[in-house]
Amino acid sequence: MPIVAAVDIGSTASKAVILIDGNPVGQVVGPSSTNPKRTAREIYERALVGADVRASDVEFVVGTGYGRTQVEFADRNISEITCHGRGAHFLLPSVRTVIDIGGQDTKAICIDEQGNLLDFAMNDKCAAGTGRFLEAMARSMEIPLEAMEDYYFGEGEPCAITSMCSVFAESEVINLINDGLELPRIVKGLVLSLAARVASLTRRLGLVEDIVMTGGVAKNRGVQEAIENKLKVRVKNFHGFDPQIVGALGGALIAADFIADKASVPQDGKS
Ligand code: ADP
Repeated sequence: MPIVAAVDIGSTASKAVILIDGNPVGQVVGPSSTNPKRTAREIYERALVGADVRASDVEFVVGTGYGRTQVEFADRNISEITCHGRGAHFLLPSVRTVIDIGGQDTKAICIDEQGNLLDFAMNDKCAAGTGRFLEAMARSMEIPLEAMEDYYFGEGEPCAITSMCSVFAESEVINLINDGLELPRIVKGLVLSLAARVASLTRRLGLVEDIVMTGGVAKNRGVQEAIENKLKVRVKNFHGFDPQIVGALGGALIAADFIADKASVPQDGKS
């Protein structure tokens, strides 16, 4: 019964998954910090406790994410782009395009029938198409980030957000509030502006279906609907699996592959 794990140190959130015999059992999400080495240990500890296994029982650990080199106990570091593709393919084998919206970057990832990476496009230069954008806007409106989804599905036409930059968009939001515009209209405008950026990034890859969304922002169904409308395609769901953990899941699956390869090598050196 192989036990493997992955720790995904993202720019904003850190995630860990323990995989026992191919089943994800310990899954943890927590905030990233200015001490990624410590965060990696802590998040891994929590996942081990959740899965009820000891660190010594884990045969292989993959470190992934923006801070993957800081996962000191990892046996191998793998790019989160590869890991998101692998995790998405495991959950839904028909997936060919993964839209990963994280805290500080957004990626469109194209994979083949086996879940291997074919191509990707990334925005990591500008906050406006990322989770950071929605977080900043929620702060300006003094509403919880999670409430944005409800506001998006509220009454009213979306208002136009004209600022191309998230810093300017923040002042624009404050002006709109001062002008008496209702929050649902502002939130819809903001989500549409994020969706337009994500859609244009995704189109660059050619838009091969099936399409799924991963990353923390995928939890907002309003963002998903807005992206679907912009791309004029349906985005498939993982039926309950947390999209924020898909990269860590993919990392753990790759860890299991390393074990399987090892198993096929004669242990005593004789063929
Ligand atoms: P990273 O790996 O870059 O740290 P994640 O994929 O872990 O990114 O996603 C983190 C982002 O997800 C943060 O910007 C956070 O605000 C956003 N997020 C988390 N939960 C939600 C939610 N319910 N609605 C919208 N955004 C969310």
